[in-house]
Amino acid sequence: MDMTGDKTVVIGCGFGGMSTAALLAKKGYDVTIIEKNDQPGGRAIVWEEKGFVYDMGPSWYLMPDVFERFFAEFGRKVTDYYKLKRLDPNYRVFFQGRDKVDISADLEKNKRLFDTMEEGGGKKLEEYLRSASYQYDIAMGQFIYRDYRSMFDFLNKKLVFEGTKLHIFESLDGYAKRFISNPDLRKVLEYTIVFLGGTPYDSPAMYALMSHVDFNLGVFYPIGGMGALARAFHRLCIEQGVKFRFNEEVKKIDVEDGRVKGITTEKGHIPAKKVIANSDYPHTETELLEKQYRSYPEKYWSKRAIAPSAILMYLGFNKRIENLLHHNLYLSGDWDPHFQTIFKKPSWPDNPSYYICCPSKTDPTVAPKGSENVFILIPVAAGLKDTDEVREHYFEWVMSHMEGLTGEKIRDNLVVKRLFSHRDFSSYYNAYKGTALGLAHTLRQTAVFRPAQRSRKVKDLYYSGQYTHPGIGVPMVIIGSQILAKDVVS
Ligand SMILES: Cc1cc2nc3c(=O)[nH]c(=O)nc-3n(C[C@H](O)[C@H](O)[C@H](O)COP(=O)(O)OP(=O)(O)OC[C@H]3O[C@@H](n4cnc5c(N)ncnc54)[C@H](O)[C@@H]3O)c2cc1C
Repeated sequence: MDMTGDKTVVIGCGFGGMSTAALLAKKGYDVTIIEKNDQPGGRAIVWEEKGFVYDMGPSWYLMPDVFERFFAEFGRKVTDYYKLKRLDPNYRVFFQGRDKVDISADLEKNKRLFDTMEEGGGKKLEEYLRSASYQYDIAMGQFIYRDYRSMFDFLNKKLVFEGTKLHIFESLDGYAKRFISNPDLRKVLEYTIVFLGGTPYDSPAMYALMSHVDFNLGVFYPIGGMGALARAFHRLCIEQGVKFRFNEEVKKIDVEDGRVKGITTEKGHIPAKKVIANSDYPHTETELLEKQYRSYPEKYWSKRAIAPSAILMYLGFNKRIENLLHHNLYLSGDWDPHFQTIFKKPSWPDNPSYYICCPSKTDPTVAPKGSENVFILIPVAAGLKDTDEVREHYFEWVMSHMEGLTGEKIRDNLVVKRLFSHRDFSSYYNAYKGTALGLAHTLRQTAVFRPAQRSRKVKDLYYSGQYTHPGIGVPMVIIGSQILAKDVVS
């Protein structure tokens, strides 16, 4: 087979790989995606067992505007590919030792809720959200949808001016405190930062914009789950002429005279004029490239703030669990010790906050009739040694804890159990230190400070995905690909 000419190889079939591939194919490139696993989606792959269908990674469909904008590049609409349901309530929060609260899709209801927990809370929430919405508009308009080639791009006058409005030198927690004093309510405004791999103390205040995403733009669910989203991107790629090779791991990126020549998999050499690595950045650099071609030495990665890994549990119950909604969060009373164990002193947490996803509340296709599909996520530090004993310990802890939270006996109704953590992130996705999310979103790892989309050492080698700008999360990764395909690959 002739694989020379303007052939382009994409390593990895995550959303970063597929969105870049579709956009480049539309521009006329002849693109092949090579993926080590057996299905599209990267961290969003699907596992099925006894009639339960599990999204193994992402479960929150946020920022629907980003998906619309992406499909519009192809003259399509989201509804050409999948159906979305807006969730209401958005989610339920269980506070330690206190009542649970439901965050609604209706702002007025949320204001009333805040009023019950803090004097003037409703008005304060409204003000906070107004500021979050303003920050979202500035961030999307000026900072996120753009390529940063150099510090000059980052520090141009206009951006510096706009940046001051984003309060990037203030912490998210400090900023939220200016509005809300009730610590539980503040947690509701801050928990989303954990999804971006940070803490409210170390992340810049501009991430208040996540509350606009959550409260104002809403929480959606693609019918069929995030797996349906992965299949939609796969279909779009095929329509654009992208070819796929699954179950094939790339072992080396071939370089000659500082220019990419193709890649080598366990099945042999594939020549290519351009290579886009969607595979985890540290893996690509340190395992697929010879030393002289690495833009970042191993030492660089060891000094970064690595985003959390997670203990994941895919559980199936042969009964419904009444007191859960689709999305549920347990936020421990003092959540600081948990953050300390994730970021400051990597170790296992004692009373962790965790997330319970129950998609069978919305979608009857993901569990047998009368059953409940439950996915648990406990954020933990990357780089820990996740022995079977540790996983079992947390499984036992969660089962007892959930019985307390929901007031329901569920242990005897368990029919599916699978635990997934660091070792699996590494073996499934070649993740550095078993991270779930890549690089944390600290100020020093934002925009121009994230690893570059263009190799500094090898011509025609590019990087897509959550390690690069703008960062973590399916919408961010898709925006990154739009920047890459439009402004970077030439
Ligand atoms: C548990 C979990 C929950 C999350 N929750 C949410 C959420 O609710 N909402 C949200 O928006 N985001 C969420 N995220 C984040 C989001 O899933 C990721 O940011 C995004 O999917 C990353 O996409 P990517 O393309 O960068 O990388 P990946 O999805 O990791 O894709 C990279 C691909 O490269 C492949 N690969 C690696 N090495 C090689 C090799 N040598 N050869 C061939 N292939 C290779 C891997 O197998 C993988 O398929 C979550 C992530 C996790 C893990």
